Amino acid sequence: MKITHDFHIHTSLSLCAKETATLQHYIKKAKELGLKKIGIADHMWDATVPGARSWYQKQGFDHISKIREELASIDTEGVQVYLGCETEYYAPEHRIALNEAVAEQLDFVLAPNSHTHLAMPKEYYEPYQKHADYMLRAWFDILTCNESKYVTAIPHPFLAVCCPYSYRKVMQIITDEQYRECFSLAKEKNVAIEINPNHYAHFSLAKVYEDEFMRMNTIAKECGCKFIVGSDAHSDTGHDKFHYAYIAASLLELRDEDFADIAR
Ligand SMILES: [Zn+2]
Ligand SMILES: [Zn+2]
Repeated sequence: MKITHDFHIHTSLSLCAKETATLQHYIKKAKELGLKKIGIADHMWDATVPGARSWYQKQGFDHISKIREELASIDTEGVQVYLGCETEYYAPEHRIALNEAVAEQLDFVLAPNSHTHLAMPKEYYEPYQKHADYMLRAWFDILTCNESKYVTAIPHPFLAVCCPYSYRKVMQIITDEQYRECFSLAKEKNVAIEINPNHYAHFSLAKVYEDEFMRMNTIAKECGCKFIVGSDAHSDTGHDKFHYAYIAASLLELRDEDFADIAR
């Protein structure tokens, strides 16, 4: 099984990305890594959806669409470039920050349940159960809202981004049964699960094998979910850990058919 895609790449149009996060760099990297398809997923909160914080107000569809002009002006050297977004969960309305008109113009959509640093009230960080419950609620809202049919994959599932303590502490209290409910719904809705190589940075093989992400992804596979690989690159060093995608996929014994259609 060869990994020939990366569907979670941020360019410098994401305000948290570095200036080195250019299309040209990613094309060069894709050639090096043997990737045939890359997916640009800049952060996006559509202007028609209420609730955007000031940071997100600058990350509307018009802003991330600037990449289209750039793409038209460069040689992609045979690498297929898909234009999507990483949108946001909006808890007060149990939905994602995307509307149909915008979604129709995108090749794919990532919708995370774990950007708790951006969306979750700080008092939910402890006890850990509150944090876990928030991400579980987010999961079900994302997959049952009106816009759910546009969601291609859940990026970095249950990896609480920028958590003040180890996000694995929260994952440890999510039961197999809860994961089964989540992944059965993802399978039913045809929403893929992201394998993110950065989870495993500096891990030994034994540690990867025993890790919380392996428990989670094994259950996702048992539930029949499809997978997608996403580096979540935000700079020119964003693919330094990409080999862990091979390690994780191999330990999960994934075959080509276990990847989502768009990723094959
Ligand atoms: Zn993210
Ligand atoms: Zn991302």
